This record gives sequence, structure tokens and C-alpha cells, in this order.
Amino acid sequence: MVVTKEELRREILKRRTDQDPDEKSVRDERIRENLKGLPEFRPTGTILMFYPIKGEPDITPLFDYILSKGGDLVLPKVDGHNLRMVRLPDPTQVQAGRFRVPEPAAGEEVSPEDLDLAIVPGIVFDRRCYRIGFGKGFYDRLLAKVPAPKVGVGYSFQVVPEVPRDPWDVPLDLVVTDEEVIRR
Ligand code: ADP
Ligand code: MG
Repeated sequence: MVVTKEELRREILKRRTDQDPDEKSVRDERIRENLKGLPEFRPTGTILMFYPIKGEPDITPLFDYILSKGGDLVLPKVDGHNLRMVRLPDPTQVQAGRFRVPEPAAGEEVSPEDLDLAIVPGIVFDRRCYRIGFGKGFYDRLLAKVPAPKVGVGYSFQVVPEVPRDPWDVPLDLVVTDEEVIRR
């Protein structure tokens, strides 16, 4: 049976938006603990995070955690077909960007090569750490330029045995869910 990226997106996105809010917050806490427990997660470093939309895991409590440890919090800002990396010293200084994703209003740009860790969202992941996003390839274009460990974050029901791959898809090094840490 051949399942397309689009079919997987639709099915898993629905499961994610249909989550019970109480169950979601329990899973969110587990995801944050699993992220903090990674040897790759050194909060003093320069860390790309994301603002959750459409039922994505709430990792925003880690923003203040990183800043309190003296790390650099970096968030993506949509610029045409690309994501620019922008330092965000104050997480309240965000505005709605394209697709209504909160993003830094302004700030110092960071080169993708200078990230110590890239934490990214996704709609579907597989056990080889391949990822399906919203279908615009923003993270594929970015991750191709990131030498640091790349970590996908999602709920355990977002992991399937194998997702369809295209030549431009960039695999992650790790996928962190509420139930496990998958290493490529
Ligand atoms: P997603 O990763 O968001 O699920 P896809 O992998 O389906 O989306 O990619 C969507 C589009 O992004 C594709 O049409 C592809 O041509 C484009 N794309 C992905 N990576 C690159 C790249 N490195 N350079 C140019 N276009 C790219
Ligand atoms: Mg892709």
C-alpha cells in the first residue's frame, strides 16, 4: 500500500488537533522533559526553537529556561521562501508572521552554521528520522545548511514506520516524543 505525504499529513494533523487538552498538556510536559534530558540539549548554547501552532507541542516553557541559563534563543522568521534565524532575547517580542506563526519582530540574525542545536516541528516522523512538514519545504531548505544536531519534536502518534521520501528531504538526527527518543 502506498500512502502519500498528503494523506499522512491530513490523518496525523487531525489526530493532533483532536487531542484532549488535558492529555495534551501531560504529553507536552513529557516532551519537554525528554528534550531537557538529551545530552545534545545544552541550554547555554545557541538553540533554534519554534512557536507551536496547530496543536504542536508546547515547548515555549523551554524558552525562558534557555535564556535563564545564559543561552541564545533563536526562532525562525519567514522571509520569502526561506527561514531566517533570528535571536530572541525577550520571548514576548514576537509578532504574527506568515501562516500566523509568531516570529521575532526584529533582532540579530544568526547564521544556520552557528546553531548548536536545531529543534523543529513536523506533522509526521518515521523511525529513520525522516520528517513531513506542512508541504512547503521551509525546513528542508533550512536544515540543509545546519551542521548541528537536528531534533524533530512531536507526539508518539506522529511517528509511523516509514514516510515517503523525496530527494530534497533532510533527515533529522533525533526525534523526541512524549514516549521515546528515536536516534537515526
Ligand atoms: P515538507 O518537507 O514541508 O513536508 P516537501 O518535502 O513536500 O514539504 O517539499 C515541498 C517543496 O519544497 C517541494 O516542492 C520542493 O521542491 C521544495 N524544496 C524542498 N527542499 C528544497 C531545497 N533544498 N531547494 C529548493 N526547493 C526545495
Ligand atoms: Mg520535506
